Amino acid sequence: MSVTVGIDLGTTNSLIGVMEAGFPILLADENGERLTPSVVHFPAEGAAIVGRPAARMRTLDQENTIYSAKRFIGRRVGEEADDVAYRLAGEKGDPVMIRSRGANHAPEEIAAEILKKLRTDAERAMGESVTRAVITVPAYFNDAQRNATKRAGEMAGFTVERIVNEPTAAALAYGLDRLGERSKIAVFDLGGGTFDISILELSNGVFHVLSTNGNTRLGGDDIDAALIAHLAERIEHPHDAAVLARLREAAVEVKHRLSESETADIELPFVAGRSVSLTLTRAELERIAAPIVERTRAHCLRAMADAKVTPADLDEIILVGGQTRMPLVRRLVAEIFGKPANTSQNPDEAVALGAVIQAGILSGAVQNVVLLDITPLSLGIETFGGLMSVIIPRNSTIPIKRGEMFTNAVSGQRSMLVRVLQGEREMARDNWELGKFDLEFEQAPKGHARVGVQFEIDANGILRVLARDTKTGREHTVEMTSAVDVSDEAVEKMLEDSLEHAFEDMNDRAFTEAKLKADEMLPAVRIALTQAGGELSAEEKSAITARVADVEAAIATGAAQPLKKAVAALDEATQRLAAILVERAVGGR
Ligand code: AMP
Repeated sequence: MSVTVGIDLGTTNSLIGVMEAGFPILLADENGERLTPSVVHFPAEGAAIVGRPAARMRTLDQENTIYSAKRFIGRRVGEEADDVAYRLAGEKGDPVMIRSRGANHAPEEIAAEILKKLRTDAERAMGESVTRAVITVPAYFNDAQRNATKRAGEMAGFTVERIVNEPTAAALAYGLDRLGERSKIAVFDLGGGTFDISILELSNGVFHVLSTNGNTRLGGDDIDAALIAHLAERIEHPHDAAVLARLREAAVEVKHRLSESETADIELPFVAGRSVSLTLTRAELERIAAPIVERTRAHCLRAMADAKVTPADLDEIILVGGQTRMPLVRRLVAEIFGKPANTSQNPDEAVALGAVIQAGILSGAVQNVVLLDITPLSLGIETFGGLMSVIIPRNSTIPIKRGEMFTNAVSGQRSMLVRVLQGEREMARDNWELGKFDLEFEQAPKGHARVGVQFEIDANGILRVLARDTKTGREHTVEMTSAVDVSDEAVEKMLEDSLEHAFEDMNDRAFTEAKLKADEMLPAVRIALTQAGGELSAEEKSAITARVADVEAAIATGAAQPLKKAVAALDEATQRLAAILVERAVGGR
């Protein structure tokens, strides 16, 4: 059997590795570099250039040098800010395409170029062909993003054995699977462009992700931008593109140096005819970076609240992402979590090493660890009146299988539209539609059809929905492989919206439920009145007519409480009418 490699397909950098003699190792390219910049350059002629030489082209040929393509993978136009130096293509709502040299490239094709280079490097290093891989993705990646990542792997010639969440991989790399039972850990991941915080728990030798939070627009790049602005002011120079490009390089370099030393010099020879030399201190950098780094705090607090833990409950805090090398970041982490972070692993390599260990587990080279992850948002279907009916709640451990029985809303209905939804809102219309299909069933009176709907999420986080008419056994299965109109910012926004609109949502749900009841009662009362109205007194009849009018008026207001009251009053007023009908039915009259 051929080996399985582990790959960290990062926004900024990517790495590949393999288990060797029981140890995870990372593989270097022909220049001895293990970190491959996730950058692809399309030259005027010939094949795409990948990695370090491509990264060098970023300032020289912005239009044809593609970086951060991971942000667009599995995304649609309009979901993701297009603030990149290259061009994007596609109509709003279509999958995002990247435009270069007159051709459109899907983001997964860019990812595939990076993966191909990693595969070639690994094959050179190992002297054998490499066809199987484990690839990591952020924990919040939705189905479309996971599937697109998997497709990228396949385009690069891999069989993708598993898609693994980055924090889970990092925890494995830190060896936290050896911690005691019920240990809880926080994974603090601050990279170039993104920030993720995850809380994991180890129980029965298994990792569970208790919660995740973060910001897809927060990272070392923001510190770079603030530092460049500061430096540009200090050199008092018109900021033309060439000067800014050189300043960027100098800024990143000085930022890295200040993680080790207290002061660093910047020399920029020949900036528009003169040389610039500056000294920057760590304290100055920290003043510039503090507001940016501080923004991670709220996400950490939220993640702990979601996981229902306090800092005292956490056994370890681990660091992932190059920006966590900054002493300021480490101090803030220690302050938020009340203890210093575990810095025993290289934060740039932890995710890749974890992917390698996971690859080892799958191929049998490593044993006794199982990895479980969670669903970032609730999944369900639309039911009567446009309500969201949750089947798998948010933060459920995967793999998972859950089912529920549904029935028909209308007599004689022959099919049911199953709309698969993702989100935290009470009304279906406020959640995202992942897909929909029609399930036909046998004609039955209202409420008599029995349709089982089952959701299954596999270990890769891919959702399969099965709907079955239990009478005929007719069933329909769909795999949610496309059209997930969800972006990672949108996941954050969904959570915020669900809090912000909690009150209206509850009213909408209560109103809809009361209206469903009213819709059922009003025609029934009318029929009952024509059938048995003759047995009621004039007062009884006028009371019922008045209550019917109240219900109709309450429906028009859209408010839940008045409608519930009106429905209850109508129910009360029609007690005797209902009793007469029951008597008649029993008496066979
Ligand atoms: P990643 O996305 O994990 O590769 O992280 C890349 C980010 O980490 C970039 O913003 C880098 O500038 C930053 N970074 C890398 N090394 C250091 C360092 N020694 N000190 C501070 N930041 C660093």
